[in-house]
Amino acid sequence: MSDGTSYGFDTLQIHAGARPDSDTGARQTPIYQTTAYVFRSADHAAALFNLQEVGYIYSRLTNPTVAVLAERISTLEGGIGGVCCSSGHAAQIMALFPLMGPGLNVVSSNRLYGGTVTQFGRTIHRFGWSAKFVDTENLEEVDAAVDENTRALFCESIANPGGYITDIEALAKIADKHGLPLIVDNTSATPFLCKPIDHGATLIVHSTTKYLTGNGTVTGGAIVDSGIFDWSANDKFPSLSQPEPAYHGLKFHETFGPLAYMFHGIAVGLRDLGMTMNPQAAHYTLLGIETLSLRMKKHVENAEKVAAWLEKDPRVESVTYAGLPSSPYYDRIATVCPKGAGALFTFAVKGGYEACVKLVDSLEIFSHVANLGDTRSLIIHSASTTHRQLTPDQQRAAGADPNVVRVSIGIEDPDDLIADLDKALTAATS
Ligand SMILES: *Cc1c(COP(=O)(O)O)cnc(C)c1O
Repeated sequence: MSDGTSYGFDTLQIHAGARPDSDTGARQTPIYQTTAYVFRSADHAAALFNLQEVGYIYSRLTNPTVAVLAERISTLEGGIGGVCCSSGHAAQIMALFPLMGPGLNVVSSNRLYGGTVTQFGRTIHRFGWSAKFVDTENLEEVDAAVDENTRALFCESIANPGGYITDIEALAKIADKHGLPLIVDNTSATPFLCKPIDHGATLIVHSTTKYLTGNGTVTGGAIVDSGIFDWSANDKFPSLSQPEPAYHGLKFHETFGPLAYMFHGIAVGLRDLGMTMNPQAAHYTLLGIETLSLRMKKHVENAEKVAAWLEKDPRVESVTYAGLPSSPYYDRIATVCPKGAGALFTFAVKGGYEACVKLVDSLEIFSHVANLGDTRSLIIHSASTTHRQLTPDQQRAAGADPNVVRVSIGIEDPDDLIADLDKALTAATS
């Protein structure tokens, strides 16, 4: 099923990218646990190394199990192709790598996964890259932040940890105006809830560690290209539009057209950065992704119930879930993520930092972990963990104030989750 564009989501999440094994007929995608692939001849090997023929060389670059996953995620996102990586953070570096260089910057939403704030705010400086953080509710601020050294805009569709829903279309318009790609981290929404490409996104990044795998077993990441951006429209993207010395002066965009970004991601990105997904991880994520729509429906249903209960509870100060009619972002659901606002939100507990710490220690079903998007319900006190390294201003911008806990609502019985929270809130606030 290589061209599955006419099939529905439930069919594609099981079949896209996969076909019965050509040698054995194996119906489930085999784990191709191999490092290298035998060349048919010396000429075949030379053609592969020159990118004149597509095929398998070495698993740092491509692997058949990983390739099925990349195609599946890309198909679900409505992209032209994808590249899998060792983690979501690897995907972010890999996504920026063809676009950036010393002195260049990315204009990024300040509502982000805590690890991304640190990666963009500190670590990428060592490459000579930088991020300008902006409030994406203030479109004039976003527009004004773009300068001649900007090479991309970046945001999350449903932003972690606050459950904020981004107006992707408005950001895409600003990116278009400046001839820049918009990169959307679609981890918290998944392509079942949100299709950023339909709203004008150029590139999608994922932490497949979360909902796409869904069972908390392996870390992984993915990049999907919409295939619609013209990398040669200006001279801002020489890695894609100009001759590549390592491939005898080949120009990626001229040679591969809309597949240029994806080919560069494999032939230069994975080749030289080596942030490769292994076939075992791809296998676990392929198993998970088969039930993505079923899980996401239940995640949303449970999150709506739990959030509504919490909002009415006198021990709770506030709940950020965008699926609640009281949320300022509720109206965006219909356009940005019509099947629901996800299952990730925060709530503020009366009693502040101390009460939050007691709450996470008193829960039985909810696990206190630094993860999200698992079938299991998870909770974390962001201010003392994931967002600990941020300044108080950054914590506030990210929705991770000291009196706030973040929950990732699982697919257990919602009444059990509510009872667990009820008991723990009593222990935390009495
Ligand atoms: C977890 C996460 C990441 C980082 O992914 P890893 O797989 O942990 O490297 C990036 N963005 C978002 C929104 C995430 O939730």
